[in-house]
Amino acid sequence: MIKFFDLTRQYETMREDVGKAISKVLQNGSFILGEETGAFEAEFSAYCGTRHAFGGANGTQAIEIALRALGVKQGDEGITVANTAYPTVLAILACNATPVFADIQKETFLAEPSEIEKKISKKTKAIVPVHLYGRACAMDEIMEIADRHAVPVVEDCCQSHGSELMGKKTGGFGSAGCFSFYPTKNLGCYGDGGMAVCNDKSLAEKIAMLRDLGQSKKNVHDVFGLNSRLDELQAAILRKKLPCLDTWNKRRREIAKAYIDGITNPAIELPEQNGKGHVFHLFVARNEKRDRLKAHMESHGVQTQIHYPTPCHEQKASDGKARAEKLPITEWNAKRILSLPLYPELDADEISKVIEAANSFR
Ligand SMILES: *Cc1c(COP(=O)(O)O)cnc(C)c1O
Repeated sequence: MIKFFDLTRQYETMREDVGKAISKVLQNGSFILGEETGAFEAEFSAYCGTRHAFGGANGTQAIEIALRALGVKQGDEGITVANTAYPTVLAILACNATPVFADIQKETFLAEPSEIEKKISKKTKAIVPVHLYGRACAMDEIMEIADRHAVPVVEDCCQSHGSELMGKKTGGFGSAGCFSFYPTKNLGCYGDGGMAVCNDKSLAEKIAMLRDLGQSKKNVHDVFGLNSRLDELQAAILRKKLPCLDTWNKRRREIAKAYIDGITNPAIELPEQNGKGHVFHLFVARNEKRDRLKAHMESHGVQTQIHYPTPCHEQKASDGKARAEKLPITEWNAKRILSLPLYPELDADEISKVIEAANSFR
């Protein structure tokens, strides 16, 4: 069986480095906001091409903190998409704001900029584009719209570590960019972790306070903050992994190309390649009989998943909290998508098996 994820394989390639990183932290005896977190923040920020970075407990809270630092509060609206991981929506809800959903582009699976603009109201206080599956949104168009309406942008980069657009990394376009280091992400730790990056100094100061109990300095609590810090063990592990990210992303793109070239079944619609703008966190195909295709892949030894089966506006938790609206393309898309296994450690034989299984589907 070809597993959808196999995190043990990456660990095997870096067992020694990870072991050393963990021992160093345990011997240092500092576990929260110490030198490993500080060093990783500087390294990750440099990687993204931003000025500031703050490690957090997870990606969901990194988004919430960025939104709160920008002043998003009760009665405000935040525009995002409904074909995202529900945490994007949870972060807006956590600010007591109302999630508003823009429909997507069929070809890219991403927010359609003109649909974002249509959803802007007097209450709109943030736009949260999601670089879904590892593909960068049309940030040039989105930033132009946001700037024209003077609405800040918080990029959800939880699936797009290293993805580039016009030579710039995702996370550096908006007021802030928020990342998750959940184990299965392109850059993942061995537990939960997150990061918010930004360029503006005063926004950076607010994010720093919010993630650390609202403290401006020790025992001085200026704002209603969160306990949302990256811990030293995860930071030390992530420091060992960050130098490998570009190589892993390159391998992801190679596997995606092998699928795109190899899967010739006309019934299966494949995603676009899109250069360095796509780091293939997920490889998502579409088929009219998705559930049958899923069963077929499974019976040919290939695990698949669906990202995501229920659009966010149709989730029960959104009832009465999100603006209820029809999203024709999002709803059409959700019934047809299927994610095939794609991670850097897949070998040539497994890649061929995935291709054969997809091509034998009738
Ligand atoms: C993973 C993910 C999140 C949440 O990150 P956590 O670290 O799990 O809280 C948010 N948005 C998207 C698009 C994600 O894929």
